[in-house]
This record gives sequence, structure tokens and C-alpha cells, in this order.
Amino acid sequence: MNIHRVTYNPQTHSCSLYFIGCNFRCTGCYWKKIYPNVNLKELKLLNLKEVMEILRPAAPEKVTIISGDPIENYEFSVLPKTLYDEFQCEVRFMTNGHVLPGLEGLSHVSLSIKAFNDDLHKQYTGRSNATLLKNFRYLYENGIGLSSSSVFIPDVIDKQEIRKIGQFIGSVDRDIPYRIIGYMPVDGLPYRKPDYEEIKDAAGSINGNLKNVVFSDPKEQDYTGITDLFTNNLKR
Ligand code: SF4
Repeated sequence: MNIHRVTYNPQTHSCSLYFIGCNFRCTGCYWKKIYPNVNLKELKLLNLKEVMEILRPAAPEKVTIISGDPIENYEFSVLPKTLYDEFQCEVRFMTNGHVLPGLEGLSHVSLSIKAFNDDLHKQYTGRSNATLLKNFRYLYENGIGLSSSSVFIPDVIDKQEIRKIGQFIGSVDRDIPYRIIGYMPVDGLPYRKPDYEEIKDAAGSINGNLKNVVFSDPKEQDYTGITDLFTNNLKR
């Protein structure tokens, strides 16, 4: 598996598993800033056995599979079940929805929808959104807890697009929580940060299609208190 980092948050007794690489090629991706500094030849990637050995002393109550998106492989497909069988923990998965693991052991999926218009989705990510939209319904129909999010990028993923995504989510279930996140600019990329009123306006365009819509201003996340159980030096 492409897991290169494992973190532990003692306050919540939770761990996060970070994948490197992605099956999409989003033109605004933050990782474009990181990848040029990654020495891929020396990067140690963990297999399932190694991940479990690292997690065992922490005995997490919650594990989140996060960042990037994996390619299909056996270890990934049994990851939620393996985590649940070992720790009886809550297993959450943050994803673009293109590749899913087996559902056994999985509690919740937070699926990021980049665009509803498929031409725009292809243009922005390099892939069609047909699989992820199908997977969204599949997860719902199989009783997996669901939430969703989108990154609002002025003039790219705009208000109309956010409204259409909201309509799609509402066609599955109006109670599914949806978060609209303002784009955080990346040096060298031509996309700008939206202002507060723009994000608020985009969120407002959902206009009753969903019961639980929140939006956030782009800010760096606060990682205070989180420790690395395993990490690589990503610098060259
Ligand atoms: S899905 Fe996320 S990690 Fe993958 S390319 Fe897009 S923004 Fe980057």
C-alpha cells in the first residue's frame, strides 16, 4: 500500500493513515507543492503487516484512512476489516470515491466531489466522475455513514457547480452533511482563494436541497498535539 505516514492523536485516541500518490490529477492539487520535494526512490511505503505493527501499541479507538487516493489492491481492500477485527475501532475513509475498499469494518466515508459536470470533472481531475457518483449511492444503499465535501475555486468550481453537487447529494438523502471548503492557493497555480462572501454565497445556492450544509474559510489546519508514529523524510 502507499501508506507513508501514520499519526496518533492522544486526545481522541485516534490514528490516521496517509496515502501518497493519487488516482486523480487535479490541476489545483496541494500535493503539486509537495511532490517535487519527495525522494520517491528512498520513500519507505508500508505494507499491511507493518501498518498493524505500528498501530498495535496505540490501540486506537478510531482510524482514519486519509489523503491521496489508493490504487486497487488486495491489502487496501481488506484494510477496514483488518483494522476493525484487531481494534474494534471506528474506521473512517476520506476519499475522492474512485476506488473503494471492501465495506466490511468500514463505519464512515467522507467523499469529496470535485465537480458534477463530467466534462469539467475530466478537465479538472483527468477522470470521469461516473464511478464516484455510482459509489456514493452504493455506500448509502449499503448503510455506510456518509458525508461529502467540495472545494470551491472561484471561476473553476463555481457557485453553479456547488449547487449541482448539492442537488445530487440531496437526490440520495437530504440529511447527508455537505461541507464547502474555500480553495487554499498553491504557489505557481493560477487559482485564487475565495473571500468569505463568495463561499457563503456558494453555500447559499444549495438553498434547501440539503439540511446540513457548512462552509469554511481556507485556513491551515491545526495539528497541535498530533504525534507521528511513523513518517518519512519527504525532502530530497
Ligand atoms: S483527489 Fe485530492 S489528492 Fe488526488 S489529485 Fe485531487 S486534490 Fe490531489
